[in-house]
Amino acid sequence: MSLLEIRGLEVRYGGIRAVKGIDLEVGAGEMVCLIGANGAGKSSTLRAISGLVPTAPGAVRFDGGDFAGIPAFRRARAGLVMVPEGRGVFARLSVEENLAMGAYVRADAEVQPDRARVFEIFPRLAERSRQTAGTLSGGEQQMLAIGRALMSRPKLLALDEPSMGLAPIAAQKILQVIRDINRSGVTVLLVEQNARSALALAHRAYVMESGEITLSGEARALLADPRVREAYLGEAAG
Ligand code: ATP
Repeated sequence: MSLLEIRGLEVRYGGIRAVKGIDLEVGAGEMVCLIGANGAGKSSTLRAISGLVPTAPGAVRFDGGDFAGIPAFRRARAGLVMVPEGRGVFARLSVEENLAMGAYVRADAEVQPDRARVFEIFPRLAERSRQTAGTLSGGEQQMLAIGRALMSRPKLLALDEPSMGLAPIAAQKILQVIRDINRSGVTVLLVEQNARSALALAHRAYVMESGEITLSGEARALLADPRVREAYLGEAAG
């Protein structure tokens, strides 16, 4: 059984059908990426999965349960945690306080060790633990957004373009860390513009165009697929 199962998912904004009945699965332990051009419907798909836009019964199932009508905060409590595009850290709070926000629903004794683990993954955050988040660089804010999500102990971490706006080295670093997080046992669904890096790291991938899934398979196979190379990796056909 898949941890996340999407069946016939549609997302509409008034008369616009942004997602046109897609199927997608993420198995426990997998790292799956969703790639596609601007406006293809990737963010809308993630919004539907995390509960920010409504969906029909049966369209989003997680850990065996139907998520229709379940609000976003309950989905997060059930282990489906999203890191939204644009990071969304609390700019006026310190790094430590932002991490504490990620653990606010928890009352267990593991919060401190989890925070120590986040600081191990992101030593830069440990160095800046008392700094306000708004003064961090873009890459550091992205680390903090991921660290905060980890503090809620996700089963599935859904990330919307974590490398966006970062310099190439910082973008690579973030994607590598996401791969490490996946290796540590967290299932990952990654939406990325940076198709080459995402496909190099993920197990499987889906390609989205105009609200539909047009290709899917092993990430390595897609990396070698001429249609993907031409459309998303900037390589000429032939
Ligand atoms: P991007 O990489 O630019 O975020 P995307 O693949 O994530 O692109 P979406 O943001 O999901 O695509 O957008 C899919 C379509 O839905 C686009 O045509 C977009 O203009 C439209 N859309 C997205 N959000 C809204 C909204 N709140 N109201 C109306 N239309 C929207």
